[in-house]
Amino acid sequence: MKTQSWLAAGVFAAVAAASPLAASPAKAQGALVMYCGVQEEWCRAMSTAFEKETGIKVAMTRKSAGEIYAQLKAESANPRGDIWWGGTGDPHLQAAEEGLTQEYESPANKGLNDWAISQWKAAKQRSIGIYAGALGFGFNTQQIKSKGMAEPKCWADLLDPKLKDDVQVADPNSSGTAYNLLATMVQLMGEDKAFDYLKALHKNVNQYTKSGAAPAKATSLGETAVGIVFIHDAVVFAVQGDPIKPVAPCEGTGYEIGSMSIVKGARNLDNARKFYDWALTPAAQGLAGPAKSYQVPSNKNAPVPPQSPKMSEMKLIDYDFVKYGSSAERTRLLAKWDREVKALP
Ligand code: PLP
Repeated sequence: MKTQSWLAAGVFAAVAAASPLAASPAKAQGALVMYCGVQEEWCRAMSTAFEKETGIKVAMTRKSAGEIYAQLKAESANPRGDIWWGGTGDPHLQAAEEGLTQEYESPANKGLNDWAISQWKAAKQRSIGIYAGALGFGFNTQQIKSKGMAEPKCWADLLDPKLKDDVQVADPNSSGTAYNLLATMVQLMGEDKAFDYLKALHKNVNQYTKSGAAPAKATSLGETAVGIVFIHDAVVFAVQGDPIKPVAPCEGTGYEIGSMSIVKGARNLDNARKFYDWALTPAAQGLAGPAKSYQVPSNKNAPVPPQSPKMSEMKLIDYDFVKYGSSAERTRLLAKWDREVKALP
């Protein structure tokens, strides 16, 4: 395991149906169908600001990353989306490899951090990094106290039998967050030990949610003692005073490069490119913090929200995005997880 060079350099401190507008070529000039992979509030802030600035009407749907990938695949013969904005980088890379998205080189690329451009190169120019965030978990301080447990600090602590039915995490088939966890464990522990860990964790899991951030809210409300999420998703509730504490696990952890891709066959290609260029500007990326999204932005001049977890202070694995975003590896690992973990009683 080694720290990312870009960290060391201090870098860190759609409607499911086609838009009715897309049906008419005249009106389509002013439309954009956006599949959005982050939290609803940030998705709305982005689509509203873009509409205001350009007059282009945005039809936005929020879905989890694995779901958007599956939707693009299902719609590939008759694409309905124009831009896929947000969500973990792995399914963006799989979509790129499978030709579901298209190449683009934005003039805004030159203002981006190296890790965003690495994603673009890995995707053969079909996806770009828009933000980064580290994986971890949050725990409900009251619940942990009432169980008489020490505060969990490590992945290993989540296997404590006192947490039986009290850990929540998403399903990696739908959720980019949960796939990031699966790939992180394989890289951190080796595949056999990772699956042993996930099988043992299964005993404590009360629910595999569809969305990756849902366990953070459930933890903040005390519906579960622990939620495995991107750390910034737990911070959202901690900063508003909820009894949730975010943790960067002691063994080390993985991270995501949240990404953006233009759909192959996009009906509103010019508008998709306009959105893409705009979404890489400091002003657009600055909409994250006010929308309670505390990822680290990819534009070097975008404001980093003060609440953003300090990734440079964490032990991060050298996440192999090319391997774990490849179609063969993602498909294989998900099928194995379904067979060996989810199918357990
Ligand atoms: N919400 C936030 C704030 C994220 O950063 C991400 C990942 O990019 C997600 C949600 C991912 O959602 P899901 O795991 O549901 O695909």
